[in-house]
Amino acid sequence: MQSRNDNATSETSLLLADDAGLAKAAELLRSGGLVAFPTETVYGLGADARQSEAVASIYAAKGRPSFNPLIVHVADLAAAEALVTFTPQAYRLAQAFWPGALTLVLPLRTGAGVSSLVTAGLDTLAVRVPDHPTAQAVLSAFGGPVAAPSANPSGRISPTTAGHVMAGLAGRIDAIVDGGSCAVGVESTIVDVTGDPVLLRAGGVPQDALEAALGAALKRPQATAQPTSPGQLASHYAPLGAVRLNATTSQPGETLLGFGAVKGDLTLSAAGDLREAASRLFDCLHQLDAMGAQSIAVAPIPDQGLGAAINDRLRRAAAPRD
Ligand code: AMP
Ligand code: MG
Repeated sequence: MQSRNDNATSETSLLLADDAGLAKAAELLRSGGLVAFPTETVYGLGADARQSEAVASIYAAKGRPSFNPLIVHVADLAAAEALVTFTPQAYRLAQAFWPGALTLVLPLRTGAGVSSLVTAGLDTLAVRVPDHPTAQAVLSAFGGPVAAPSANPSGRISPTTAGHVMAGLAGRIDAIVDGGSCAVGVESTIVDVTGDPVLLRAGGVPQDALEAALGAALKRPQATAQPTSPGQLASHYAPLGAVRLNATTSQPGETLLGFGAVKGDLTLSAAGDLREAASRLFDCLHQLDAMGAQSIAVAPIPDQGLGAAINDRLRRAAAPRD
């Protein structure tokens, strides 16, 4: 399992959306595998949102150069309520548009069990109930939250058929559930409902329909909080302490975050495993805050594969702050 997505030689199964195919998809998700499936927007690349290493595999398979928070797909409102705290306005939007191409950002419940790699360390979570029979069938066969960005290699066009997914990710993911082509073809609309509703991304559900359901205008995000490049969100998680990169030893007063041969006070991966390091990154940063670390030194991380995304996040953490 651990190195499955590191090489391009393993087989990607094409599954039918029948009982046998759905059972197989659910089993693969349970064992930490990656399964692409259609939603009404585009094909998503799904992993169990509670398994950090599975979520790290999404980044490895897509070759994504940065960690941005992922949307979690659930079967219904009740499953969403188990993960996030709903506000009255969130209920209004969910009742009007779920299942559908609307993603709601809400406060993450403590103990929800969602990997910190899904939220990129934030205390909010983006959730959606998709309106596609195959997506619904995968979610109910699996019975848990599925983190799923679009099922394409980073920087390439979003896939709307199983063939598109196979062309882009064959050998890098476990399976594709073939559910035909996607109807909407554009991404979901994203609304932050943690306070006064803010339109974070335009998408499948139009703004005027949202405003009619709310009986109020949606705010627009501040210029600096544009989610088009989510890694640059002003609210993005960074540790409280100052960060120094490429440290092989700590200086007096520093807390050392280790990797591989650099032991550290805590470590991203003692074995030097990039997937493990990715899966632990945000938990380690939170832990450094909890330890009260004022000055943080971080071991060098090789800049290949998942290491590039880890280094992107660490560079942002080390950048001068206002
Ligand atoms: P994608 O999965 O490619 O559709 O991208 C997910 C989008 O959801 C990105 O634009 C993220 O910035 C946004 N998103 C996911 N979670 C959050 C969150 N907790 N707060 C704000 N935006 C989020
Ligand atoms: Mg995408």
